[in-house]
Amino acid sequence: MHDPLLTVDGLTTEFATTHGSIRAVEDVSFDLAPGEKLGIVGESGSGKSVTARTVMRLLDDNGRIEAGSVRLNGRELTTLSERELTGVRGTEIAMIFQDPMSSLTPVLTVGTQITETILEHQDVSKARAREQAIELLDRVRIPDPESVIDTYPHELSGGQRQRVLIAIAISCDPDVLIADEPTTAVDVTIEAQILELLEDLVEEREMSLVQITHDLGVVAETCDRVAVMYAGRIVERGDVMDVFVEPRHPYTAGLLRSTPRIADVEPALLPGNVPEPGERPGGL
Ligand code: ADP
Ligand code: MG
Repeated sequence: MHDPLLTVDGLTTEFATTHGSIRAVEDVSFDLAPGEKLGIVGESGSGKSVTARTVMRLLDDNGRIEAGSVRLNGRELTTLSERELTGVRGTEIAMIFQDPMSSLTPVLTVGTQITETILEHQDVSKARAREQAIELLDRVRIPDPESVIDTYPHELSGGQRQRVLIAIAISCDPDVLIADEPTTAVDVTIEAQILELLEDLVEEREMSLVQITHDLGVVAETCDRVAVMYAGRIVERGDVMDVFVEPRHPYTAGLLRSTPRIADVEPALLPGNVPEPGERPGGL
């Protein structure tokens, strides 16, 4: 048995606030095998982004890891120095953030922001980094990458900005990609395109994926396993199909009922025959 690529164990994160300390993530554990796609699903405020930021060690200043461990490629991340973390982020684990406008710097061109990451991690010339950036923009299906590379984020559409963030995230070939609701800011058509792009990239670059979403339909379409978060905790986990067919936690059943898109999931995703109407398990 290979060790999992990423093992999160008992992770607990607190924030200091004027009203005292808030426990945003409590005793969260999951692991991720090479090539696996894990969905973390839950409504807004359930602790998904804080979980991701804790794993990346990119917490807000008032945040603190209270307990738990994060092991990536056999190395403990919770105790690494900031300098050591710089070597890990980008090359071993990368994250696509929820809001592309605030994750990109408005005053720097797209090209500068992509090449910055490349130059930080790879021993290449500036000219070569620029070439790589153009190739990456092309790969994330941005038309006319030779021109787009010299534009500023505000000149791009929301979907294009998200593609730029994806280009930055994959620029140094990470083993694990965390996508934190990458399609919040775009419409449904673009959402489908971006999710498809992510799937293709994950396959092609043999990455493992943590897909964070409030949408169970997205999990059904893109993940092997799912962890359901509620109020800072994982309340249910399992293979996507098992959880969908027979949710054990009432919260999961509620999420399923409030996700009309599940009805559109292709039947091929469900093994066996579609249950007769009288035999359908609750929650579907
Ligand atoms: P989501 O599941 O929507 O991604 P989050 O992980 O962003 O939820 O947030 C989980 C909880 O942590 C929320 O109640 C949020 O208000 C709180 N939280 C996040 N960041 C901070 C912070 N810097 N200070 C205080 N509370 C925070
Ligand atoms: Mg979030």
